Amino acid sequence: MPATSALVLFSGGQDSTVCLAQALETFDSVETIGFAYGQRHDIELETRLDVLARLKAEFPRWGSKLGPDHPLEMPTLGRISETSLTRSVAIEMADSGLPNTFVPGRNLLFFTYAAALGYRRGITTLIGGMCETDYSGYPDCRNDTLQTLAQALSLGMDQHFEIVTPLMYIDKAGTWALAEKLGGDKLVALIAEATHTCYLGDRTHRHDWGWGCGACPACELRAKGWEQWQQARKSEPN
Ligand code: ZN
Repeated sequence: MPATSALVLFSGGQDSTVCLAQALETFDSVETIGFAYGQRHDIELETRLDVLARLKAEFPRWGSKLGPDHPLEMPTLGRISETSLTRSVAIEMADSGLPNTFVPGRNLLFFTYAAALGYRRGITTLIGGMCETDYSGYPDCRNDTLQTLAQALSLGMDQHFEIVTPLMYIDKAGTWALAEKLGGDKLVALIAEATHTCYLGDRTHRHDWGWGCGACPACELRAKGWEQWQQARKSEPN
């Protein structure tokens, strides 16, 4: 059988780390791509290197499959998007009905860059941690959006690309459960300690579920998922 490969959109957050672990479990070789688009907090970019190093060190079986990481600079996206992720403004709902953490077109651009890189690297499976289930209704996280984009990329590059989103229909409790299934308590501990989710870039408050302010929408979602997962584990028969 020919070797299989995948390119994972990897931000250093909980979701993309679980996607990366699953890809390392599934494919023969896996490369990662990350984007600096003018996020307010560099912490995301620092943690992704830390997570990669720890995955390599703590899971040698996966480490041997982990290929190059491709960090890309996309400052233009930050310059044209007036959002609370790239500007110092409070997180709130915008007139569009979406929270102002929404960076318009972000995932469309990320996957387009990933496909361009994949084309060059001979990788046609692109993986991302987008999720319809308990997100804020970001339209570029929808399955329809991403599958239509995969078609456009395949046509536009005359090369069949697949966009795979393992977390599309599971909630945050399901994401913790998937992490445990893939890498046991060791992966859960790595994700809690090393990955970053907080919108405010807080790395001073440590909770069971990881570092963060505990109050922003991203922290609330992560904490709620953790609690639900703990409850589900307690009610499971041993
Ligand atoms: Zn937070």
